[in-house]
Amino acid sequence: MAAIPSNSIDIAERLRFITCAACGVAFAVPMSLHTARAAERGEIWCPNGHASKLGPIDASNLTIQNLELLEELKNAREELHRAQRVAATATARVAEIATDDEVKRRCRLLSARAERTTFGRIACTVCGRSSNTESSLRNHLFRAHKEDVRAMNAEAFE
Ligand SMILES: [Zn+2]
Ligand SMILES: [Zn+2]
Repeated sequence: MAAIPSNSIDIAERLRFITCAACGVAFAVPMSLHTARAAERGEIWCPNGHASKLGPIDASNLTIQNLELLEELKNAREELHRAQRVAATATARVAEIATDDEVKRRCRLLSARAERTTFGRIACTVCGRSSNTESSLRNHLFRAHKEDVRAMNAEAFE
């Protein structure tokens, strides 16, 4: 039965191409298999059944492999450093931004610190609107000035 020719090839493995010294056919074997066979000075057969003796390990081939691995390692290190920088920046940002709970705490402090005006009313420190009670000022601060309070310097609320 004739083989069906295929135009596509999907490979997720490094291959080593070999040209048979006896018949000249080119074929490929997984690099790991080739390296293992070469290490044990074993043989690999071409599709026509000719044996090729492998090894000792081809030094120039190993040098190329080492250079490729070094390149991969260098790229991986750069990738890691990039990721570490991104993570550090993100952590710094998170530390700076006050959470909603922190904003609520600040609103409570602001309303407690606000000065009493005529008839015991309390003026909003941001817009001057007066409230009857501390709790209504606190609610007003959180509703109307949430982002202003969030942007305030954290040291003012220590
Ligand atoms: Zn052959
Ligand atoms: Zn206000």
